[in-house]
Amino acid sequence: MQTWLSDPVPLVAGTPRPLRLHDTAAGGIRPTAPGPTATMYVCGITPYDATHLGHAATYLAFDLVHRIWLDNGHHVHYVQNVTDVDDPLLERAKRDQDDWVVLAMRETALYREDMAALRVLPPRDYVGAVESIPEIVEAVAKLLAGGAAYRADDPRFPDIYFDHRASGRFGYESNYDEPTMTRFFAERGGDPDRVGKRHPLDALMWRAARPGEPSWDTELGPGRPGWHVECSVIALNRLGMAFDLQGGGSDLIFPHHEFSAAHAEALTGEHPFARHYAHAGMIGLDGEKMSKSRGNLVFVSRLRADKVDPMAVRLGLLSGHYRTDRSWTHDVLDEALARVQRWRAAVGSAAGVDAAPLVSRLRDHLSDDLDTPRAIAAVDAWADQTRSGAGHYTEAPAAVRTALDALLGVAL
Ligand code: ZN
Repeated sequence: MQTWLSDPVPLVAGTPRPLRLHDTAAGGIRPTAPGPTATMYVCGITPYDATHLGHAATYLAFDLVHRIWLDNGHHVHYVQNVTDVDDPLLERAKRDQDDWVVLAMRETALYREDMAALRVLPPRDYVGAVESIPEIVEAVAKLLAGGAAYRADDPRFPDIYFDHRASGRFGYESNYDEPTMTRFFAERGGDPDRVGKRHPLDALMWRAARPGEPSWDTELGPGRPGWHVECSVIALNRLGMAFDLQGGGSDLIFPHHEFSAAHAEALTGEHPFARHYAHAGMIGLDGEKMSKSRGNLVFVSRLRADKVDPMAVRLGLLSGHYRTDRSWTHDVLDEALARVQRWRAAVGSAAGVDAAPLVSRLRDHLSDDLDTPRAIAAVDAWADQTRSGAGHYTEAPAAVRTALDALLGVAL
């Protein structure tokens, strides 16, 4: 799929810091240790609706990872998928009497615009589920032949399921106990009560064709792919096993990332799928969970249409720590708008306080599990001192502007 465009990322003077990041599988903060090319997979959208601030916050967190790795001199091979065929998309299209293909194309195009406006660096490979069907079929056929996957005991709809015990390590990514897994499996798109499965926790890999649903004629029979295997195969075939980072929102910890890992590990006999599993917190609105069922989603495109500065949206979302569940409010936005103005005035000054200590602090904080609140506070202090006329370094405002562009992704 076509990705989006971004400005080149400028080089920043001084010494970069290697990134330490929370790893869900390890249950703590660990160094990321990429080779010359750092490899990252972040789960993409299901394009049935516009990008809301919860999505945006997740992609911004991993954009910082991308930027820190670039600062450390790595190339970054970033892969993201688009789940352009799945139940929520088909349900929305049906509800709105829309063509599901056109709906997916329209929302994917809007997502690209939103990401470009927020200055999220694009993935190198932006891959749709539909265009990946041949490689998904190949993987499912192999798992079926090897006994890790099986057909549901249902002659009418012989869906293919993954035996969740097949990799021998199921649960290492989320570290959830079985009652927690069972609860999240039911809440997040799983089908524990499906008759014909061997175990309630087994996950769908291939959904046999149903009347009125899109399907593809393949060696598995007519049908369409499940969601976990889509991400598993797209990541595996582009990044290989043991890639540096699997990312997404915290609602993907289980079942999605657990199964993506288990599929790839059963397929290759290797471990781990990813060396790091990182998850971003959820964004609420005014203290309530933001969700489509509550009808309180705040869309990036709506804010753009209202002429809200995308850099204020970016800074507002980064003003909280990426792992914290937090709320979007008028105050968050107002504070971010005022901050952009103060920073813009400071980097537009004729002289300022020395940039080097600030850049050093920025790197310290960002490389410490993306501590954006402290990074932003350091810039605030520099901007306030500079605006008060305390500094006499004529090159400092331009140097800070460059560092904010490269490291925080904020263009002033
Ligand atoms: Zn995914």
